[in-house]
Amino acid sequence: MNAEEFRKAGKEMVDYVADYLENIRERRVLPTVQPGYLRQLIPAQAPEEPDSWQQVLQDVERVIMPGVTHWNSPQFHAYFPTGNSYPAIVADMLSDAIGCIGFTWIASPACTELEVAMMDWLGQALRLPAAFLASAGHGGGGVIQGTASEASVVGLLSARARATRRLKQKHPDWLESAVVGQLVAYCSDQAHSSAERAGLLAGVRMRQLQTDNNFSLRGAALRRAIEKDKSMGLVPFFLLATLGTTPSCAFDCLPELGAVCEAEGLWMHVDAAYAGSAFICPEFRPLLDGVGLADSFNFNPHKWMLVNFDCSAMWVKRANDLVDAFNVDPLYLKHDKQGLVPDYRHWQIPLGRRFRSLKLWFVLRMFGLSGLRAHIRRHVALAKLFGELVGADRRFEVVTPVTLGLVCFRLKAKNEVNEALLKQINDAGRIHMVPSKLRQTYILRFAVCASATEESDIELAWGEVRDQATRLVGPPDRL
Ligand SMILES: *Cc1c(COP(=O)(O)O)cnc(C)c1O
Repeated sequence: MNAEEFRKAGKEMVDYVADYLENIRERRVLPTVQPGYLRQLIPAQAPEEPDSWQQVLQDVERVIMPGVTHWNSPQFHAYFPTGNSYPAIVADMLSDAIGCIGFTWIASPACTELEVAMMDWLGQALRLPAAFLASAGHGGGGVIQGTASEASVVGLLSARARATRRLKQKHPDWLESAVVGQLVAYCSDQAHSSAERAGLLAGVRMRQLQTDNNFSLRGAALRRAIEKDKSMGLVPFFLLATLGTTPSCAFDCLPELGAVCEAEGLWMHVDAAYAGSAFICPEFRPLLDGVGLADSFNFNPHKWMLVNFDCSAMWVKRANDLVDAFNVDPLYLKHDKQGLVPDYRHWQIPLGRRFRSLKLWFVLRMFGLSGLRAHIRRHVALAKLFGELVGADRRFEVVTPVTLGLVCFRLKAKNEVNEALLKQINDAGRIHMVPSKLRQTYILRFAVCASATEESDIELAWGEVRDQATRLVGPPDRL
């Protein structure tokens, strides 16, 4: 494909993408293919001679689309949203064209400098304390990670390095392995599975602490756990707090937890992967109160802020904690501007990094903060509408408050009945949802996901849930 052919093919692909997104409601949200379906649709080997662009484009519909789960369909209500918007897509085209690997400042100064600036724009939009902003000049700043899981690992490893250093200062004769063996990290029993995984990857204990009746981790529970571990000679060093848990969008109590962490010298990392986008709205910003006590904070613009995957925004108060944990300095990566600007390779696990701030820049400019707030508010209103429809049917109950865009609900019946209901709904394939469990109770999770979701989509979804329930347990008046 030469430049002339690219102009033509690129435009055809743009048309294909626009058609796909405009007509996405016509596609079944969840595919019906069986494992191994794809291998039969393509040759056993790569072609010896090149295929034509037309052949490749045609095969997208034949080979790929039958096996796509349409995350950006307004009938998709599983997990949490994944961001999508035209400004982000065109920004990613440009990022692909520049194709730089921005691991140091000199490896592409614009890549680093736009990221520093965008993380400040975004941090200001969330009204993060100045200590997290690069422009404040106190050693804090933001970085774009690929995912919230990586941000948790980076936070945990940095905390581990800091705690190890402190312990070795106190006990110079201890071996590194003995020091790490004493460390204890905490999260709540509602934390995302990536928290447990971060503990495994870092090789430290990760205790899941019990939450209160609102599925919120409280200061007293953390304090009790710390005291117990200290009495056994262990060294508590890290807390992963969650704002907007995956099972039910619950919020850990940051002001209480932060006070305990501060008193006990724990690193507090805040995972707000989904909920974080809402904090650009003043009415939701109180949910972030207490973040000033955190050492690191993370949320995913690629979930709910119209930025395509991957773009996970992480801020730290002391960038040096990351650099100290991850710094290695081979000669081929050195440059004469070191120290004047961040070399983001020290802030993350991989060396290479894409030009991800471009899509943040395009999205922030082309929606404006007012447009992004309107998007969040519209989704919250749609979730509340769904919650009202569910609540008005006496066969059902909404089990947790609808704070943002997630509705947790169930039939007032045994877990097995609710499991059967969800299976029926997903088998029918008109909408897609996933379950979760709160303590021993099986619930259905309804997340407002696609940016194009409208009231009529919510009504369609409720109609589907209602009709499948009627098939299973009979109409409301029979109960
Ligand atoms: C979605 C989610 C994650 C995982 O996000 P990735 O970016 O895919 O790693 C972590 N924590 C919470 C609370 C989430 O909602």
